[in-house]
Amino acid sequence: MHIHCSFCRHSFNLGRDYVVQAVADAEENNHKYHGLECPKCRKLIKVSLKEMRRYVPKNVPEQEPESEE
Ligand SMILES: [Zn+2]
Repeated sequence: MHIHCSFCRHSFNLGRDYVVQAVADAEENNHKYHGLECPKCRKLIKVSLKEMRRYVPKNVPEQEPESEE
């Protein structure tokens, strides 16, 4: 999942496994966002649960041919 830091404009990718875990954590805590630290400026970036869910759809087996690199 592509993340764009709104503070320093740094962009980076989150692995699918990470996003799956982040979605699970957010759901468990009833959060609408997942907060993560920008690797460059160290500020807290909020990624909405909705965005993350779009990246890791529930109950859909991984079979779409999607190359990310
Ligand atoms: Zn940043």
